[in-house]
Amino acid sequence: MISLEAALDKIFALARPLGIETLPLALASGRILRGDPTALADLPPFDNSAMDGYAVRAADTTGATPASPAVLRLTGAVPAGAAGGATVEPGACARIYTGSAVPAGADAVVLQEDTRIPADAAGLIHVLDSVKPLENLRLRGEDVRRGEMLAKNGVRLNAARLALLAACGHASVPVGQVPRTAILSTGNELRRPGETLAPGQIYESNSVMLRTLSGPVGITASVLRPVGDSLDAVSETLRRGLEEHDVIITSGGVSVGDYDYVKAAVTRLGGRLDLWRVAIKPGKPFALATFGEKILFGLPGNPVSAFVTFLLLVRPALLRMQGAADISLASHPGVLQQPIQNPGDRRHFVRVHVGPDGEVRPAGPQASHRLVSLAEANGLVDMPPRAEFEAGRMVSVLRWDGV
Ligand code: AMP
Ligand code: MG
Repeated sequence: MISLEAALDKIFALARPLGIETLPLALASGRILRGDPTALADLPPFDNSAMDGYAVRAADTTGATPASPAVLRLTGAVPAGAAGGATVEPGACARIYTGSAVPAGADAVVLQEDTRIPADAAGLIHVLDSVKPLENLRLRGEDVRRGEMLAKNGVRLNAARLALLAACGHASVPVGQVPRTAILSTGNELRRPGETLAPGQIYESNSVMLRTLSGPVGITASVLRPVGDSLDAVSETLRRGLEEHDVIITSGGVSVGDYDYVKAAVTRLGGRLDLWRVAIKPGKPFALATFGEKILFGLPGNPVSAFVTFLLLVRPALLRMQGAADISLASHPGVLQQPIQNPGDRRHFVRVHVGPDGEVRPAGPQASHRLVSLAEANGLVDMPPRAEFEAGRMVSVLRWDGV
């Protein structure tokens, strides 16, 4: 049995980043950037107006008030998408809109609300308030200068990062390839939800859980047909699964029972069992095996054990294979509202619910088959062996919202 840290070291040594592919931005949502893209253009690309109003020379508005407006000649208009147009001469102004190019000569924009069109004098604008030079302007390159780095290698491409790449002229982006991933449940007792249960049978729930947990990591996993507890059946299903996938995530059959065939199947297929059993609760019988570059994560069958080992051991590997820089779960501070104990000799990841103000409560019974408390929980508190945390203690909660 090895520590969680030692297990992760081993996993990272084996789960190397896959190759790089270039995708149009529209297909790159949630993928991991592999490169350091720089701006192909200034952002904004030209000086432009932040408001609808009139482009002016600021000096022409000095001292303007509603009682004593500055009177300017309207000599032009710049719709969005047009070049700046004619120069604004002293005493003149040009109609301008949000995002329109600022005409030469103008150095500020007066808000439309701060002007009046006199009824009696065509072609004049009354300015009711003064503006300072550069007021209501957005200057070329003030957000990003051409050639500046836009995002770091290894970040996840979210909506805002994709918008920044687009705004700076990128049509496509290099991203890490996603491991082709399959999920396989093992156990004679498993029936699919919707089928009728015979005595001794249960509904299979790990596949949908693990597939759902894989989604936010950028992976659309295929779910293989669950397999019974027979060495031949497990071996044959794994052999076929390995032909088409880089990663297989099994659940069940990896413990010490007479019907636990996953490890034996690895050996039969010529794979290498790289680790088995990690000193955590839930999730001790976790196994990792490799077939050349391909990886098998053998998760325990108990749903909560499968859930926790996925988050702590599989998720980081799947992210690292895509080249992600940050592979840690979000961690939030909170305050325990009631005491929690870990009398055992393994590190316990206690499932808790953390509220909007950081109040942390255990989410219910902690046994590894109890699904209701898992469904109520939104985080884990990492407790060392033989520990007691009193109420009021500050704890870090590992969150899986959005995971
Ligand atoms: P195992 O790791 O195969 O010994 O299974 C441990 C426990 O998890 C047993 O109670 C199994 O019935 C249960 N289990 C295994 N696989 C699944 C699954 N896919 N869905 C729900 N429960 C499962
Ligand atoms: Mg089993």
